[in-house]
Amino acid sequence: MYDVIIIGAGPAGLTAGLYSGRSRLNTLIIEKAADGGQIAITDEIENYPGGLSNEESTESGSELTKRMSRQVAQFGAERVSAEVTKVELEGKVKKVHTYDAVYESRAVIVASGAYPRLIGCPGEKEFTGRGVSYCATCDASFFEDFEVFVVGGGDTAVEEAMYITKFARKVTVIHRRDELRATESIRERASKNEKLHFMWNSVVTKLDGDGLLSRMTVKDTVTGEERVIEADPEDGLFGVFVFIGFLPNSELYQGQLEMEDNYIVADERMRTNLKGVYVAGDIRIKPFRQVVTATSDGAIAAMQIEHDLASGELD
Ligand code: NAP
Repeated sequence: MYDVIIIGAGPAGLTAGLYSGRSRLNTLIIEKAADGGQIAITDEIENYPGGLSNEESTESGSELTKRMSRQVAQFGAERVSAEVTKVELEGKVKKVHTYDAVYESRAVIVASGAYPRLIGCPGEKEFTGRGVSYCATCDASFFEDFEVFVVGGGDTAVEEAMYITKFARKVTVIHRRDELRATESIRERASKNEKLHFMWNSVVTKLDGDGLLSRMTVKDTVTGEERVIEADPEDGLFGVFVFIGFLPNSELYQGQLEMEDNYIVADERMRTNLKGVYVAGDIRIKPFRQVVTATSDGAIAAMQIEHDLASGELD
């Protein structure tokens, strides 16, 4: 029986593990993939406190994650690599099922994050890995000297588009409106990047090609007109990177935890509607999803559990 089980080892889960382990609580972190969650595939983290950047380098998400994971291990939290398949969160003993085991605890922190939203157009699934990608750090280098399109208009789309210009010969951001959602400082950097171009009031309605992505249909959101964009014949293919927001990994908790738009609802101490169940990070309903807000949630959840266990609240 653990004191705390943390589901997810992104910044929220790792910080919860750090605080929980450091409070001498018997802590288990369960994660199905690599530590870091979304930042594991983020090239540059410019705005996490202490992460100084200079002309040559900015801290990458994977470097930050490595330091976080080492710090968590130092304070004694156990970590299991497994996929959580079922949770039983009511009652005093919480049960977390994986394919191989059932783990029990007095408290649970749900920190299972979010995943990229899809365009949802014909061809998108078929061409994923054959031209369509959701991860610039993973795939941008495949497009060295090719043309690339980036779908989206938020911070992620513009930052990742700038990263892709290090590889591609031309990058065009396709946005459904006539102005970016991205913050001023990011827009300013983008405007100085000569390889970066913008296609406004446009949505991708079809992705196509012969084996590899080489054709796409784009619709003008103002006139409704559709046009087909073909790869340069010399290239024979182009890349489409999609960054149009994220959706929470909350399916497992439906029917047990209170949600809004599939995000889990909690109070400012990260307590959900169920006693002994807390939430942290991008899966929680909140206005800003940043690494720093995720780590903050994780710290608050773990400190609240320490308090609730010590005060007998969870007995
Ligand atoms: P986001 O801010 O929600 O932006 C999503 C973008 O995709 C919006 O421009 C939206 O268009 C567009 N979009 C949504 N659904 C679409 C669809 N079906 N078809 C076409 N376009 C669609 O998401 P994000 O950029 O991933 O950022 C998520 C959070 O992380 C934000 O809070 C952001 O500030 C933060 N973030 C911060 C940094 C940083 O500070 N360095 C870096 C990355 C992310 P509309 O504008 O028309 O709604």
